[in-house]
Amino acid sequence: MSTIKIELTKQSKLQDLDLENIVFGREFSDHMFVMDYYDGQWRDARIEPFQNISVSPAFLSLHYAQSIFEGLKAFYTQNDEIVLFRPQANFSRLNKSAERMCIPAFDEAFALEALKKLVDIDKAWVPKVKGASLYIRPLIFATDEFVGVKPSDSYRFVIFTCPVNKYYDAPVKVKIEESFTRACSGGVGYSKTAGNYASSLYPTKLAQKEGFDQLIWTDGKEHKYIEESGTMNLMVKIGDTLITPKAGDTILAGITRDSVLKIARDWGMKVEERNLAVQEVLDAHANGTLLEVFGTGTAVTICHIIAIGYRGKMLELPPIAGREFSNKVNEQLAKIRLGSEKDKFGWIEKVS
Ligand SMILES: *Cc1c(COP(=O)(O)O)cnc(C)c1O
Repeated sequence: MSTIKIELTKQSKLQDLDLENIVFGREFSDHMFVMDYYDGQWRDARIEPFQNISVSPAFLSLHYAQSIFEGLKAFYTQNDEIVLFRPQANFSRLNKSAERMCIPAFDEAFALEALKKLVDIDKAWVPKVKGASLYIRPLIFATDEFVGVKPSDSYRFVIFTCPVNKYYDAPVKVKIEESFTRACSGGVGYSKTAGNYASSLYPTKLAQKEGFDQLIWTDGKEHKYIEESGTMNLMVKIGDTLITPKAGDTILAGITRDSVLKIARDWGMKVEERNLAVQEVLDAHANGTLLEVFGTGTAVTICHIIAIGYRGKMLELPPIAGREFSNKVNEQLAKIRLGSEKDKFGWIEKVS
């Protein structure tokens, strides 16, 4: 399978789009990539108009969440080229998620070729405003019509895209969660699979009622170690050391996380990937060495954390403007994407 059938839309929706006022994740570009898996093989690769799909009430993924996804971005460089940021890493992670969820692997090189074609066809949807981008959502879901827990025999792979504005990256208040668990050892925390996000909604809603923006998840066994924040990886700078929880099976191996760590090491900074105890963060706050706390993820890149709630107390963190590392690495990533900084790690992939 190496050809992609292309059917273009007869009626572009682009003229209805107010590019200045897009809500994240609500506007969809004209086309999508689709391929199906049945009779033991991925087949029927095509790019077609973005459209609804009709499913049976017995659609397997609705019941048992055999479903996985990814998130990445395309954007304009300063030389007016459209590029992707580390797309191979997303497709490789999608195949890792697939393995855990008994979803058949796909050809990553072919998926990348298909994605480039899709973005090229919808290039008019890539916003030119600095900081804005085309958000890309690949997903794979089970399509059998069957009641009963078993791996599906058929699947659909879809990639669709959404133009998004520069994300309004206001600093957030987070609560250290000690009752609910996002992931536990042996579970599916490292997999970008649907159920992880459904199960996070309720604890997050409770924290939001208390005035927090999101949670800091702790380990499922003792609630002693910090894992992630919301759907972002978490990093702290204590003294001159950047520390982040080790990406085992309870932590999603973020690509932004990896990029930040690579840049930090390249700058000669002290970097530690290891267990990070809640107590260590509390102690560092108490003795004034907790200098920076932030989340990393594709949607925002760096999300500064301004306050941490812990057992009814609020730990206020240093002002954002003085946070040397997280501000600098955020700018560095923006420059690499824009092409004003050399792409020494080979992260930038041209669309055409
Ligand atoms: C997607 C995701 C991240 C961030 O990954 P990136 O590749 O940096 O976007 C972190 N944690 C969770 C739980 C996620 O789903």
